[in-house]
Amino acid sequence: MLIIQDLHKSYDTGKSKLHVLKGIDLTISAGEFVSIMGSSGSGKSTLLNIIGILDEKDSGVYDLDGIPIEHLNEVKAAEYRSKFLGFVFQSFNLIGYKTALDNVALPLYYQNVPRKERNLKAMEYLEKVGLAQWATHLPNELSGGQKQRVAIARALITDPKVVLADEPTGALDSKTTHDIMKLLQDINNEGKTIIVVTHEPDVAAQTKRNVILKDGVIESDEFIKQIVL
Ligand code: ATP
Ligand code: MG
Repeated sequence: MLIIQDLHKSYDTGKSKLHVLKGIDLTISAGEFVSIMGSSGSGKSTLLNIIGILDEKDSGVYDLDGIPIEHLNEVKAAEYRSKFLGFVFQSFNLIGYKTALDNVALPLYYQNVPRKERNLKAMEYLEKVGLAQWATHLPNELSGGQKQRVAIARALITDPKVVLADEPTGALDSKTTHDIMKLLQDINNEGKTIIVVTHEPDVAAQTKRNVILKDGVIESDEFIKQIVL
């Protein structure tokens, strides 16, 4: 599904170059549920953003579903993102003046799906995350956990090959974190490939494979026993 070889990334910070990723090798198969850990500034988000085609590598290989991701213009990058990837962020990134239903339906709007069809599908995905009765509510009428469920429904509505989540539980309490991880486990059990960046060992323990970044390389990469919730 995803092949990364000897991937490097630096940021130009004016005077000096900050070499963040120094030769990452990572292969993730379809259906995996992977967590990426590492101290603050170790390059977790940088790696996830490159995987998500939101940022570009400097060198190395990145293949997504057999396609080399290389020197894409913004149109092509957006096309690949909408075809292959779903995103979930710590801060939910919902549109405040749109209802839960409209937020979930938004990716289909950008794919020019007719309104009736996208609303039906959005309802289906809201049901999937247990929020059908909240469809007409605005984000500020929802709890943090409910907002993240809306964001997860939005990430899934285009049926992406891979769901990328950067600290999806970073703004949630421990009970809600548990519930959101349970939802991600259910989605993974249905076959979806999921990559979660987290600094919480409890969250990583609820995935199936734990990758740890340190000093720009992968320090450890272990398949872990899945904890039954
Ligand atoms: P955190 O756990 O705090 O989210 P992280 O592991 O996700 O950290 P990154 O956000 O990937 O870390 O950042 C890695 C390093 O690269 C940091 O030192 C950061 O300051 C730097 N960095 C990230 N994005 C940029 C950018 N756009 N321009 C310059 N430097 C950047
Ligand atoms: Mg980060």
